[in-house]
Amino acid sequence: MEKTNGIFAWYFKSNLLLRILIGLVLGAVAGLIFGPGISWVSPLGDIFVRLLKMIVMPVVIFTLVVGAASVHPSKLGKIGLKALCFYMLTSAFAVGLGLLIGNLFSPGAGMDMAADAAAIGKEIKAPSLAETFLNIIPKNPFAAIAGGKILPTIFASLVFGIGLAFIRQSDEERIATAGETVFKLFEGGAEIMYKVVRWVLEYAPIGVFALIAVVFGKQGAAAFGPLGIVTLAVYIALLAHLVIVYGGLLAFNRISLFQFLGKAKDAMLTAFVTRSSGGTLPVTMNVAKEKMGISKGVYSFTLPLGATINMDGTAIYQGVCAIFVGLAIGLPLTLGQQITVITTAVLASIGTAGVPGAGAIMLLMVLDSVGLKVEPGSAVAAAYAMILGIDALLDMGRTGLNVTGDLAATCLVAKSEGQLDSDYWQSTDNMEPVPVHVLKD
Ligand code: ASP
Repeated sequence: MEKTNGIFAWYFKSNLLLRILIGLVLGAVAGLIFGPGISWVSPLGDIFVRLLKMIVMPVVIFTLVVGAASVHPSKLGKIGLKALCFYMLTSAFAVGLGLLIGNLFSPGAGMDMAADAAAIGKEIKAPSLAETFLNIIPKNPFAAIAGGKILPTIFASLVFGIGLAFIRQSDEERIATAGETVFKLFEGGAEIMYKVVRWVLEYAPIGVFALIAVVFGKQGAAAFGPLGIVTLAVYIALLAHLVIVYGGLLAFNRISLFQFLGKAKDAMLTAFVTRSSGGTLPVTMNVAKEKMGISKGVYSFTLPLGATINMDGTAIYQGVCAIFVGLAIGLPLTLGQQITVITTAVLASIGTAGVPGAGAIMLLMVLDSVGLKVEPGSAVAAAYAMILGIDALLDMGRTGLNVTGDLAATCLVAKSEGQLDSDYWQSTDNMEPVPVHVLKD
């Protein structure tokens, strides 16, 4: 921030992450002290979420078009394939881990909710699988953009960017020049958006304070008992996935997990408090570009894709919650049912939008696949409603891991493609921002 004089100088001069952390702790304390009465601060959190939302679509479109137009189409295919494989395999592992830890902790055992048939459940419809995939192709890209639909927008931007890549390489000078002009326009747009991202981040500490205060104000000490065990199981599984899967894969590629986390922390924290991978995308991209030294040709493609289809945290959550619901209603999941959960949870996590609470909707699809139907008044609905009650707490952790997974995949794909600037990874203890390099695309 250029402005360092005036009464707010102390604010802009102090370390941003420290300010965000202070906002987080103060928010939790305020929420616990004032309880639901703190909810009047929620507009301050909404401002933060709205600002992030405001920049998501332009960031995705500009960076994706520039990214796709910057790499040779054959290379884009390779990067895409690598990222997709990473996303799928880690998600499948994530559900397995969720199920394993769910079995170990047995949340909901002995609750005997089958007797509690009077519980009120809501019937919510999860979209069908074929529908989810078909909707990736927009019938009208402009409507998709205006409607904030990320997956169709990614598809349309990619097609446009690949077209642009060909045009730029045209033998006919007139066409090549036209392509170059369009490319520069989008490149300028992307740079403008990065600038705006930095401004929005200056507001983050206040937004974080409000978002956390409201969550703690509402839930406070309620997350004890069986729900406490669900929460604990989800968070332990998230941590295990981070250390074992990402830590292992990074170490295998000679990248230290600690160094990676030191760089990824802004994005992880933003994801944690906003509960939206999509909303965090501008920050995630900023981290990839300025902290990790990843080429735009890689991250502009893998990050928006990851924010939409790669949800390891959500997959873990679905695994643990399926176990919880089964135990709570006195019908523990059989091995066969748990294998079904692995398949459906991977697909469900792909279909989950990167917005707060989306994973809870897709959990319906997972439960349905093993015969646990959420019908109004049923015990399944009551158990499901209990989880919904603490969804915000679970969503924070799973979104944090979702975004970390996108960054880990992007790092590894970039490294394997020689698109990771090693200058950014020299020393493990240097947390200072590195000079902004002009990245080669
Ligand atoms: N909130 C999550 C995300 O944005 C999705 C979910 O609800 O699981 O990544």
